[in-house]
Amino acid sequence: MQENSSGNSGKLIFLWPATSADLQEAALQLGYYGYAAELFDTAADLLLAAGTRNPTSALVDCGAVAGLAGADKTALSALSRRVPLACMSNGGGIDARLGAVRMGCQAYFTRPLDMTSLLDTLDRLTAPPQAEAGRVLIVDDSPALAAFYAAHLNEAGFVTQVVTDPLKTLDALNEHPPELILLDMNMPGASGEEIAEVIRQQEAYLSIPIVFLSAESDVSRQREAMSLGGDEFLHKPIEPEHLISAVKSRVIRYRSLRALMVRDSLTGLLNHTSFKERLRAEAARAKRQGKPLSVALIDIDFFKKVNDTYGHPAGDRVIKNLSRLLKQRLRGADVIGRYGGEEFAVALPDTPIQTAARVIDNIRESFAGIVQHAGDKTFQVTLSAGVSGYDATSNGESLIQIADEALYVAKHGGRNQVKAAA
Ligand code: GH3
Ligand code: MG
Ligand code: MG
Repeated sequence: MQENSSGNSGKLIFLWPATSADLQEAALQLGYYGYAAELFDTAADLLLAAGTRNPTSALVDCGAVAGLAGADKTALSALSRRVPLACMSNGGGIDARLGAVRMGCQAYFTRPLDMTSLLDTLDRLTAPPQAEAGRVLIVDDSPALAAFYAAHLNEAGFVTQVVTDPLKTLDALNEHPPELILLDMNMPGASGEEIAEVIRQQEAYLSIPIVFLSAESDVSRQREAMSLGGDEFLHKPIEPEHLISAVKSRVIRYRSLRALMVRDSLTGLLNHTSFKERLRAEAARAKRQGKPLSVALIDIDFFKKVNDTYGHPAGDRVIKNLSRLLKQRLRGADVIGRYGGEEFAVALPDTPIQTAARVIDNIRESFAGIVQHAGDKTFQVTLSAGVSGYDATSNGESLIQIADEALYVAKHGGRNQVKAAA
């Protein structure tokens, strides 16, 4: 058995058979992206290892699977119910594809193996399940009714927070920002319409869905409530299934709208504006807590040449590959943004500048090893980075500026290197 581990406690992928040159290359490339890839000589070895360890996915050769004997074949098929199975084949004909589906394969790749699509698929197959269906704030003066709605929404996977005093709505909003507000209309202290107006007057809550849930039968008052910023009017009493489906579709829409507002569409990373907002918050936190904070600006080397030589779509894939590498190798607390075309920015909270420079340099080294594909041509690309560290006089702007100056030094020092600001 050969092993290729990045040293990162990342996701474990099993590959079989080890004799396949494609799979050997895939194992090497997967390592760069923080996956731990293990090659097995025989299907029996793979099955044995899968029994005691927990691979997040297995990638197998279709031809080798076709040659399996009865018991191993049954065992592999059984494994596919527990571990997502992907297979690689020489051709994309219907017979081979059907065979793979019947084996329990969830993904199918043809040779030559396109690493970008393999990684996209593995990311999808191995993604942790969505934590929750959504966060809902229920504002209703009747504790019994509020609890009734909360119970049904919880059962459907929503996380709920109940407020029975409408004047406490803002506190609840600030403490646990919801993704939808379910608002009663007739309440003592303040009406639902008034509360909706108060919510909408705050920029942070302009886009959050507000669904009125009320026994109000006066149509003109319903219309009035909608004009004050409501998204939907649901009538009490309501069937739980109706409530759940209305809430679900609103939350899904809200999530995709928010993603569009703050995320870059090619990479899914924070866009320029959102990154700077987050960086400002991180700088304020560093100041308050007296903790270190580092910022790295990363720029792909000679990227114009990549576009000119291999075409814009190949350039886009390089950008995606780098964004994936950053996501895989940085911590959840790190803030990653696509700062410009082929420029990325990272904020590393709680990290001194020398440590940050080391982390980014490891990523630089991995990136340089990644084989990029354009049709049947392959090539490699490098990056340069500048790193700055927070001190008493820093703010978000100055951190970026100093990292940019260090990046300039890295570029002029010959590229493919990381420079920490002096
Ligand atoms: P250097 O090593 O000095 O950074 O050289 P460079 O060629 O990378 O730098 P330059 O800034 O001259 O060129 C960047 C190129 O990146 C120009 C632009 O066409 C390309 N680019 C910017 N955004 C995208 C994108 O989203 N997709 C693709 N494919 N190319 C992009
Ligand atoms: Mg560049
Ligand atoms: Mg640039």
